[in-house]
Parts: sequence; structure tokens; C-alpha cells
Amino acid sequence: MKPKERMAIPRHYPKELPPEERITNFKEVTFGFDEETAILEANRCLQCKKPFCIQGCPIHNDIPGFIALLREKKFEEAYWKVRETSTMPSVCSRVCPHEFQCEGACVRGKKGEPVSIGMLERYLTDWMVANGKNMYKECARANGKKVAIIGSGPAGMTVAHLLSHQGYSCTIFEALPIFGGMLSVGIPHYRLPRDIIGAELYALKHCGVDIVYGTTIGRDKILAELKKEGFETAFLGIGAHESRKLGIEGEEDTQGVLHGVDYLRRVLSGEDVTIGNRVVVVGGGNVAIDVARVALRRGSKDVFILYRRTKEEMPASSVEIHHLEEEGVRIEMLAAPVKIHQQDGKMTGVECVRMELGEPDDSGRRRPVVKEGSNFIIEADSIIPAISQKVNHTADKGLQMKIESWGTYRVNPKTLQTSIEWIFAGGDDVLGPQTVAKAIYQGKVAAESMHRYMQGQDLFEGRDLTCYMVDW
Ligand code: SF4
Repeated sequence: MKPKERMAIPRHYPKELPPEERITNFKEVTFGFDEETAILEANRCLQCKKPFCIQGCPIHNDIPGFIALLREKKFEEAYWKVRETSTMPSVCSRVCPHEFQCEGACVRGKKGEPVSIGMLERYLTDWMVANGKNMYKECARANGKKVAIIGSGPAGMTVAHLLSHQGYSCTIFEALPIFGGMLSVGIPHYRLPRDIIGAELYALKHCGVDIVYGTTIGRDKILAELKKEGFETAFLGIGAHESRKLGIEGEEDTQGVLHGVDYLRRVLSGEDVTIGNRVVVVGGGNVAIDVARVALRRGSKDVFILYRRTKEEMPASSVEIHHLEEEGVRIEMLAAPVKIHQQDGKMTGVECVRMELGEPDDSGRRRPVVKEGSNFIIEADSIIPAISQKVNHTADKGLQMKIESWGTYRVNPKTLQTSIEWIFAGGDDVLGPQTVAKAIYQGKVAAESMHRYMQGQDLFEGRDLTCYMVDW
């Protein structure tokens, strides 16, 4: 096929559950491509000599490589091409914000629409499952060395996966009674079906990874004890699960105030959380969008999002914003809460102010400025601020680890070694709230460093560290 013919093929979009059906359940919203569509979409790829898509992917998947195999119908080979660099393509293909990563860098996006890389990756993982193919790599003979991994999110899962496949005995300590960290308690089922997380768990157990649930390191056991128990090294992959507060009157002592990741954790763990019909969600990221969509599915009728900038500045991915609006959630833009009103301790409404956009701030986005005298009240039963998350430092109790001023662990950016030489860290507890692919990438870097550390090798020597200097 000539490049001109490839250029003429329009981008394909997946089928989706209709909005009126979606909001009644937690079924996956987006369907996968069928074979014909996948091959047509793969034919849009120009197999660039300088594939910017690879640079846009935090784990540097060989995207043109797997697409070339896919369009020759070599689906199994194409899947293993992705697995050369990715520990969990079935997760990344569903939850990564592709528009900001691989697809955002795809050359076809310059004059039109990028190749639908995420959906092609998903096609391969779905095809492997549907055809009963082996998706596991061979396990290694045990080498007698023990590794502790704190947290079972994507960074910890990646460290466990890579080190267990090199013969290390890995134990994951998970504070919650369920596996998967933010994948399980932060991402709703309609974006990531739970059998996919279950398959990742099975893959780790298959190679002997031990998982200890309900154990909070720093409270039930401290890291120094693990060292005494023979763990030669530890990885901190505890994520950033603590909600940042709005800091407004009424936030601490009013019934009806919940915070974004706490609400998701409770609902996604199966708790019946009552928040009423009229729900205000504050924030513009994916957590805010998920909270609003989960609230709808849990029966709230009047859900809307309060965001202090405009839709263009929202950090959430455009497909999530699109789904949100299709499902009937209104976005109240250029508005911010200033006070939570209550009667007898129960929330009655939220007082807001109108904003306007001023000069760009450090993030490059225009700074919202309060319009004086613009106060107005929205009647509501609940407010769920979902503005950001920070790291909870229970795990490093008693260790006096170096922490950055914004609360994440200070690490050597090339090796991810913390200020305590036998402890490494990665994922959201180093980066702040970030994407799954970035957490996986840091898991890969940390696993390599931990392996070298346990083998008494130089952490840097002979290692291609240039590719680790990713601009996050
Ligand atoms: Fe294909 Fe886009 Fe990557 Fe080029 S940049 S190789 S067109 S996916």
C-alpha cells in the first residue's frame, strides 16, 4: 500500500455502550476492534523512519514494530513484540491517556488524526485471551534472595514481575485487602474490567510471588524489621492515595464532604456509600471524572463538576470528558468553591465564586483569578473534592528518608535508589499522581537497579541510562 493510500484511510473509532445503558451498571464502556477494523486501522500507520510514537510512550514500546506484525495478521508475534517492553499491555491499552503519550506524538496527528495505537494494542491482548494463548513468560529458578515490595499497584507489580522472573523471591505487602493499588481502588470497572487485574495477579503468583494483604508497612511492621527478616532490598510503590484538601470552611466538619480517592476506594471496594442525589465534584482530572461517573452509576441523579478553568485546560483525557458529558454530567467551568454551607452539621450547599483566566502560571496554563463579588450558591447533598493526591508516609516510619518539598520520595533519578541505599522507590510516590505507563517504566528502572544492588554490581556502569531521562 502506498503512503497516499494509507493517508486516505480515516481513523476508526470503537463501538461503545449507549450512555443510557452505561449509567445503570459498571460494564466496560468501550468495545474492542474486530479483526477487520484492527487491520484497517493498522494500515494507517506510515512505519515512520523516526517513529515519534515510541518517544511518546513512557515505556518505549516498539509501536511500528507491533503494528507491522498486526497488519500481517501475526497477532501472537505482535503481542510478544509489545511484551518486550511492557509488563501489562492489557492494562495500558485501556487506561493510558494515549492522546498525551504515544498518540499525541504520532506524526499522523499533525494533519488529521493519529493512529489509534491504544486500540490496536488492546486488540492484541483481547485476541490472545480469546484464542486461549499463553501470555506468561517462563519463570526462573529461585536464587535464594528475598525482595520486599510495598504496594501492589502497577510500579510494584512490575518490580515483582521482573525480579521474580530473574529468580528473586518477591513478597508484596499490600495494606488493603485487595490487589492492584490504584488499578483496583482508583479506576472503575467500566474502564478496567477486574478480570484483567486478576490475570496480572495470576501471572505473579504463577512465578511464586507471595502477596501479604492487610499489612500496612510502618504500622503493622516496619521496613527495618523486613531487613532483619532477610529481605535484601525493598521497593516502595505505595502510590499517592491521600486526597489533597480544598482548605475551605466546612470541609472538615460537615456531613456530605468526601474526598475523591477515598470515595472511589470505598465504592470500588464494595462499600455502599450514600451521597444523595445532588453531587458536586471539584476538579478537572481523571479522578474527578471517575468520581462523577461512579456517582451516577451509584444512583445520584444530579451530578456536576466544578472546575476553575475551562474545558480546554482540563487535564483529564478528552475521551473521558466526552463520556462524562454523554452520560449527563454538567461541567460548571470557571467556578471554584469557597465555603460549604450546612444545617445541623449536614451539608446544604456550596458557595462558589466565578473565575476568569489571567496570565499563564508555571504549568503554562492560564491562572484562574477570582471575580470579586461573584459569589453564588449551589444546593447540594454532597461535595467530593478531587483536586489531587499526595503520598502518605506511614511506610517510611522511623527511617528518616529524604523527602522532596512536595512530599514525594527523593531518589536518584537514574537508579531510583532512595536516600537509604537498600530501598528503592517509584511510581506515584516519586512522580506524584501520574499514568500507569510511567509507573511501569519506573518499576522497570527500579527492578534493574535492585538486581544490580543485590548482585553487588555498580548501579550505573554499562547501563543505557540516557533513555531513563524521560521528560515526565
Ligand atoms: Fe505509525 Fe504514527 Fe508511529 Fe509513525 S508515529 S510509526 S504513523 S504510529
